[in-house]
Amino acid sequence: MRKRLLAWYQANRRDLPWRRTLDPYAIWVSEIMLQQTRVAAVVERYTAFLSRFPTVASLAASSEEEVLALWSGLGYYRRARMLHRAAQEVMAEYGGVLPENFEVLRKLPGIGTYTAAAIASIAHGEPVAVVDGNVERVLCRLEGLDASTKAAASLRRTVQALADTLVDPRRPGDFNQAMMELGATLCLPRNPRCAECPVAAHCQTRGEHKTTKRKPMRAELAACALVLRKEPDGSATQILLERRAAEQTIMPGLWELPALRDTEVPADELAMTLRHAIMQVNYTVLVRSVAQKDLTRLAVRGGARRWVALEEAATMALTGLARKVVASIQLPDRKKQKSG
Ligand code: SF4
Repeated sequence: MRKRLLAWYQANRRDLPWRRTLDPYAIWVSEIMLQQTRVAAVVERYTAFLSRFPTVASLAASSEEEVLALWSGLGYYRRARMLHRAAQEVMAEYGGVLPENFEVLRKLPGIGTYTAAAIASIAHGEPVAVVDGNVERVLCRLEGLDASTKAAASLRRTVQALADTLVDPRRPGDFNQAMMELGATLCLPRNPRCAECPVAAHCQTRGEHKTTKRKPMRAELAACALVLRKEPDGSATQILLERRAAEQTIMPGLWELPALRDTEVPADELAMTLRHAIMQVNYTVLVRSVAQKDLTRLAVRGGARRWVALEEAATMALTGLARKVVASIQLPDRKKQKSG
């Protein structure tokens, strides 16, 4: 099974930027970015992040705000904060060299079993198995495990033990990546492509397996203020952004649009409606055009506010929602430029 899987991976693996390096730091950054984020989104951000922070030392020496700005658009900003903190710990405790060993790696902030196993196996050839959601699905199907009857923790233990026995001791990094690649490209959650699967002969299920139903997302309505200002010459537009204290927001450290107290928005003041999902909540966000003089009356109190030119805003550590709004405001200007 290992032989077939590795041969398939060799011939079919996607050419992704982090697969062209064995630098443990670059692999670490890619693995943290890839958690909960689509590959296409990571490809874009990964290269920019590594050009700005090519080494652990450069990352450790930067400010958290700058790290968050480079992370913007990837979501789950806690990952970026932990990565930054861990880089500082590597400088202070390990002389600037990321530890090689799985057990030692796990002691760093933000590096759990999955990331430690990925770095140790891919960069250093340590035979430890990586189990992410894709690998768990592949192994459940290969072994015919009924994921609907097991508690999540017990299923995870069973799958990890199975992965540990399967990992190829000679090529653990390739084996782990091959399992993840199989889950990402053939053994898909719906309609797996079993006819093309290199390990179909070893598979008990050859198709979808039983899983527990996911918790449905909660729907919520929210409103925020779009407060704009034109420069005296009428050319550049500024936007009023707000950064809220940790106890007032689920996105501390990031700039966002001022939140409004009320979700009743008069039709002629509705600038746009956006959908935005954060963790288990599907937000419908009403973006209301608000004049600066009305903001104190309408907005929730508490954030530090700042006028920012739109071009600068696009480079700041924004929430995903604020990023969408800023991008949509810039659009007419770009159109103007094009038609001019
Ligand atoms: S045969 Fe199908 S279900 Fe089994 S591992 Fe391959 S793609 Fe997945």
